[in-house]
Amino acid sequence: MSKFLCKCYQEIQPYAAGEQPRDREYIKLNANETSCPPSPAVLSVLKSERMEQLGRYTDPDSTELRTAIAKHYDLPINQIMVANGTDESLTFIFQAFFLDKKICLPDITYNYYETLANSFHIDSQYIPLLSDFRIDVAALIATDRHIIIPNPNAPTGLVLSFEEIKQIVSSRPNRLVVIDEAYVDFGNKSCFSLTKKYDNLIVAYTMSKAFNLAGAHIGYCIASPGLIRDLNNIKGVFNPFNISDINQAVGAAAINDTAYLQQSTQAIIQTRNYTMHALRRLGFFVLESHTNFVFISHPNIGASEFNQQLRDYAILARWYNQDRIRNFLRITIGTQSEMEQVIDAIRNILAKIAA
Ligand code: PMP
Repeated sequence: MSKFLCKCYQEIQPYAAGEQPRDREYIKLNANETSCPPSPAVLSVLKSERMEQLGRYTDPDSTELRTAIAKHYDLPINQIMVANGTDESLTFIFQAFFLDKKICLPDITYNYYETLANSFHIDSQYIPLLSDFRIDVAALIATDRHIIIPNPNAPTGLVLSFEEIKQIVSSRPNRLVVIDEAYVDFGNKSCFSLTKKYDNLIVAYTMSKAFNLAGAHIGYCIASPGLIRDLNNIKGVFNPFNISDINQAVGAAAINDTAYLQQSTQAIIQTRNYTMHALRRLGFFVLESHTNFVFISHPNIGASEFNQQLRDYAILARWYNQDRIRNFLRITIGTQSEMEQVIDAIRNILAKIAA
């Protein structure tokens, strides 16, 4: 630490992202990215003459991208805010609404929420997941605190129903509810329509998963016009040109290509079903996944050891050294061929243990 670092940041712990090793070729299933290319429309926009205009600043209101997102959801543009991935959306949300408030979140969830809560010194309550790893809806309805949850949750992959989300949002109109729908497109129902009726709901999305665009890092939020105005003002202060012109073009091209979105998410859902079935046949306990990853444990091998052994097969998964989930491994769903290689490797690992 240098002698110049501000006091309020002296204790901060940066978010520990899934590693990106370059030492050899891996089947990379540790960061819930996708192994598929983005839409062909994205690739053609990157090769277009428009890229010759990069000497100019981008539109700070990101009108093109917000218009495309608004059209996709059949909403007015004043209900859309765009950001550099969900992580930037969350930073703006915390800055705009949580700094001097009390919040709550599940004890097992996307760790970046805790990173933000700690670095902003926010009074945070961690609500334990139920014994079957579901989010405790009754506890969320009962609390006065602002709420942030992913739906589906990560790393469990479990989902709350639309009705449960509606109950949480409608039960206390003076408390803000943030639903992070990073994985919603893998076969779940979004709750964005509730933003037309409830002004205490923000739904956050990412293009890093279903849109195959983690490398571009584009996120967006849907909420009432009042909340979006506040978020856009915060963005205008801390990062006025947060969406590059490349990302405006890329994001708009991706969300306009709904056929490709359908096709690539369907392929992942099919491969997920294949993977879950194969893992269960191999004796794994597999939580019901509603996402592009599975969360699994096996009675014959500890998860940390299992993770290491997969690495020997050049397969990267994600292990959390955290209470209650230390014996679980999270594996992202890759292509069908990648997952067949993973299942083969796992079969070998289990056979070696049994021998
Ligand atoms: N939300 C959840 C629940 C996640 O698991 C992740 C990343 N794995 C993100 C958000 C990050 O999204 P982005 O890449 O848009 O920052």
